[in-house]
Amino acid sequence: MNIHEYQAKALFSQYQIPVPKGAVAFSPDEARSIADGINGRVVVVKAQIHAGGRGKAGGVKLAKSRPEVEPYARELLGKVLVTHQTGPAGRQVKKLLVEAGADIARELYVSWVSDRATGKIVLIASTEGGMEIEEVAAHAPEKIVRLAVDPTFGYQPYQGRAAAFQMGLPKELVGPWVALLGRLYQMFVDKDALQIEINPLVVTGQGQLVALDGKVGFDDNALFRHPDIAGLRDLDEEDPLETRAAQYNLNYVKLDGTIGCMVNGAGLAMATMDVIQLAGAAPANFLDVGGGASKETVKQAFQILLSDPNVRGVFVNIFGGIVRCERIAGGIIEAAKEVAISVPLVVRLEGTNAKEAKAMLAESGLNLIVADTLWDGARQIVAAAKGCA
Ligand code: GDP
Ligand code: MN
Repeated sequence: MNIHEYQAKALFSQYQIPVPKGAVAFSPDEARSIADGINGRVVVVKAQIHAGGRGKAGGVKLAKSRPEVEPYARELLGKVLVTHQTGPAGRQVKKLLVEAGADIARELYVSWVSDRATGKIVLIASTEGGMEIEEVAAHAPEKIVRLAVDPTFGYQPYQGRAAAFQMGLPKELVGPWVALLGRLYQMFVDKDALQIEINPLVVTGQGQLVALDGKVGFDDNALFRHPDIAGLRDLDEEDPLETRAAQYNLNYVKLDGTIGCMVNGAGLAMATMDVIQLAGAAPANFLDVGGGASKETVKQAFQILLSDPNVRGVFVNIFGGIVRCERIAGGIIEAAKEVAISVPLVVRLEGTNAKEAKAMLAESGLNLIVADTLWDGARQIVAAAKGCA
């Protein structure tokens, strides 16, 4: 789960990481009144969406005087911002961060990320922070410092010093840098984060380190022990189909293909997606309906699958181990009565009472194809979907 910059900055403050003074605004009026409470000449108005690249896309406005704040807020609120991270559809801006402008001497890059390959927490840092960090990574990778921390021992100050020396930070910054990394690392561990990124971490004219941006992602599987973090969720920023699926305990991930899949078990769902590819099409989603798929679950799953306009066919592939096949067949028949299934449907059931289940489907009068094997089913749905398109 990801959070907004303003939420990340509130967490940074809890960990004594300096951030500019500011607050979130939902209207131009609020933006103006927040700006009135900020000392200093320049006020920054920043679009809050779960995507980076806002600066280059016009989502960060520098108001050089107070009267500019409200018009900037009006311009940004409701605007669909297209950045290199949003995809072509972009994201609609519904909130803004209004904060004091910083006096920027240098822009650094810093992040902690969990690295699955090594099982470590890795520091990534660079003196070349700011909006061109992707360019730096691509063309001057030697300017990026990486340093792995073993979670058993945790971050040690000598590691922060080593990073500072590699980066060539001036010596008066080394102490604050080492301490800041430690506080960020602590936050990472305390909150079960997967990534904390500050870009830019600026050095101000007075030589202070200040987090000007913040991008934080958390481990969904650990959210149950962090109600404070779970409360930061913004459903506006998530795929509505995935949100709906989660309400029914369905593991659904939307993809770009045309074949909707309804499968029980994550492994079988992965295999089904592979076989669809092999048969010449691409899956529209990953969907694991779980071990005890009930009538209601199957119905919800159909509704979610069919809400995706790219779907040209649905492939149901269920292995009846814990759940008996005729119960699934019953669920499909009931669901098909209530949900208008407008595309070809292929069903493959295997396992306990598969024979009875297939007979039920065949006698149901529903417009569906009963397949015998996984390969047979995949080929039939791909062919039927092509005919449908
Ligand atoms: P991103 O483009 O989505 O990563 O958004 P950022 O929060 O990183 O903002 C983009 C850029 O705007 C930063 O790299 C800064 O150069 C600039 N910026 C952000 N806040 C301020 C500020 O307070 N003062 C000045 N002068 N520039 C700022
Ligand atoms: Mn940034």
